[in-house]
Amino acid sequence: MALGSVVEFFRNLPPKQCSCCGQEVKEMHDCYTHQCEKCDTEDLK
Ligand SMILES: [Zn+2]
Repeated sequence: MALGSVVEFFRNLPPKQCSCCGQEVKEMHDCYTHQCEKCDTEDLK
């Protein structure tokens, strides 16, 4: 597979969504959680 195709594949991936509220989770967020910062914080309470 050409390198360009791999780049296109990742570029076309849908944004990661919070498993709790469905809000888009920024890629900057910790990769081991599937929740947005808001829901993740509420879980810790
Ligand atoms: Zn959420």
